[in-house]
Amino acid sequence: MPVLDEFHAMFPHLPPTVMLKVDLLRQGVQFGAAPIGTRHYHHHDEKGQKPVDFKAHLQGSVTLPDGSPVFVGHNPASRYTILVDPESGRLRLVDGAAHEPVCDLMPGPRFTWTGGRTSTQAPMASVFTPSLGGACGPVAIFLLRHCEFAVDHEECRFCSWVRMGKSQEMRPNVSDMRETLGRIWGEQGAIGYLAFSGGSLFNRTKEADAFLTYMAAVRETGLPVPPTVAAIQALDAPDSRRLRDAGFDYACYSMEVWDEKAWTDVLPGKARSVGRERWMACLAEAVGVFGPGRVLSNFVAGVETMVPGLYETPQAAAESTLAGMRWCCEQGVYPKYAIWVPSTGAAYAGRPPAPLEYYAHLLEGRQALYAEFPLPVPDIDCRHCLTQSCEADLATLDPARYAAGAAGLVHWNERHQRAHIAA
Ligand code: SF4
Repeated sequence: MPVLDEFHAMFPHLPPTVMLKVDLLRQGVQFGAAPIGTRHYHHHDEKGQKPVDFKAHLQGSVTLPDGSPVFVGHNPASRYTILVDPESGRLRLVDGAAHEPVCDLMPGPRFTWTGGRTSTQAPMASVFTPSLGGACGPVAIFLLRHCEFAVDHEECRFCSWVRMGKSQEMRPNVSDMRETLGRIWGEQGAIGYLAFSGGSLFNRTKEADAFLTYMAAVRETGLPVPPTVAAIQALDAPDSRRLRDAGFDYACYSMEVWDEKAWTDVLPGKARSVGRERWMACLAEAVGVFGPGRVLSNFVAGVETMVPGLYETPQAAAESTLAGMRWCCEQGVYPKYAIWVPSTGAAYAGRPPAPLEYYAHLLEGRQALYAEFPLPVPDIDCRHCLTQSCEADLATLDPARYAAGAAGLVHWNERHQRAHIAA
């Protein structure tokens, strides 16, 4: 049975293209010779960027015919391949060894600035990075290119970051930033958001220092700054205040998984550094600093199914994560999720992805929470940049079922201006 018909038969309440998006995310795709993605720096040294298979460092997005954007990474073992149709030149998604057609695809943005260098010869793609292939051109800046959790093998089990090359702590170079950000604005004309992220330190105040230093450097460029988010370990209230006072619009203290046992297995570094209970207290305190809906917490949806013996069914795992999302909503914390991509280089590389049944349950449950809690959708989210989750697709494709509450109050397609893409 063709793939989309298969998804429709299995999950009649969900748009089949949404389940296709989930499957593409959890399995990755074979890139073939299709022009997809740009070189991704993995936030490490340039020397660590020379893999055996260059495609391992390509990341980008494609758009399904119904407008759903999908983040794609290369997986040579995926059932899906992206090909270029020799006659029309269009991108085509095919399934299996027989290359059964699935659907046409639109390529996501590829910006020329990612191949540029600053006058100090720094690769611009290492100064800022296109974030998850969003068509509104969001960018990330990776500071603290070092994670102390990796020292004793306590890194988060889904993280491919810490094994991809030699980690190093960096200082911002304002002149490199000004040149790169200026070129990004000039080329793209739009930047959906600017995410600050990096490795973790056991001294969280020192970790916060780096975020403040980088924010000051970005401001010193004198260029416009899009909505900003600090993705950082959960901070105590005084440090949350420092983030807010430095001008961060949002703070994201990601729980990643919900259950205590999942924390121990999946997040050994975070469990030792802060612990689940304190993390939750920091989230609640941060709402008092930033305000309801301005503190976010991400869940790596599906990775919790890897914890041996914790959940009897995929639905039970999804219910647990939904309980975490509900707790967030009750505190005024906006819950986000990213579909788990079992990445090469992570401790959990090679594990099977979470079952589709898990995602079907989670996706529907998350949309239902919009109806219960009036938390506004953050300014950093739009349909074009939510390439790793399906809130916007569901609300757009089936509003009668999935656009209740806050999900129905936003124009998901028009929230961020689309970036200009060179022909
Ligand atoms: S905190 Fe976890 S996700 Fe972040 S860099 Fe360290 S190991 Fe990776």
